Amino acid sequence: MGSVKDYFSSLGSGISSLIKGMTVTGKEFVTPKITEKYPENRGSHVYPDRFRAILVLKYDAEGRHKCIACGTCERNCPNGTITVETKMVETPDGKKKKKLDRYIYDLGSCTFCQLCVTTCPTNALEFSNDFEQAVFTRSKLVKQLNYLPEVPDPEPTPEEKAAAEAARLAKIEAAKKAAAAKKAAAAAAAAQADGAAPEAKPDTAAEAPAAE
Ligand code: SF4
Ligand code: SF4
Repeated sequence: MGSVKDYFSSLGSGISSLIKGMTVTGKEFVTPKITEKYPENRGSHVYPDRFRAILVLKYDAEGRHKCIACGTCERNCPNGTITVETKMVETPDGKKKKKLDRYIYDLGSCTFCQLCVTTCPTNALEFSNDFEQAVFTRSKLVKQLNYLPEVPDPEPTPEEKAAAEAARLAKIEAAKKAAAAKKAAAAAAAAQADGAAPEAKPDTAAEAPAAE
């Protein structure tokens, strides 16, 4: 009698379990699918803006970036992913200026911490969400971020040229004054030394016989 009761009890729990399972299956059957069909959906899929895929230099519409080659990002990068190579150029007003030559970034060692972006004083960097960066050779992960031909700096305006020339002349004038002041001070010191010397002679002369 007991075995018949156990039989129907386990049959009932089996049917109940089957109904529960089929309910879940039925629900999933009618729920909209979220599986991405990559790469078929390349053209339609929207990637999050804040996704950090690769570091890039921001270029404006005229093809200029804002990097001033200060090296802050390179110093702040925790694992030496960035190398900023610089060069010296002459500005239209005749001054020497440090400029970016090559901005080298190794995607293979980047941890995407974004310290470089947040510490850049000119807001020259950002992360692109272009995640398709797979390559077959590690060396191809080392990239030069200033990839566009360098656009010359805009010509200074007449006002800027006049201000630069005035500053140059003022600097020359200040240097002349400083040199004249130095010369006068040296002459005064020499004259003082000449005036003090004759007073010393009699003392020496007076002391000489006493020594004999
Ligand atoms: S990207 Fe920014 S922090 Fe890095 S060298 Fe250029 S200006 Fe400096
Ligand atoms: S995100 Fe971090 S690890 Fe990557 S280059 Fe910038 S500072 Fe270096």
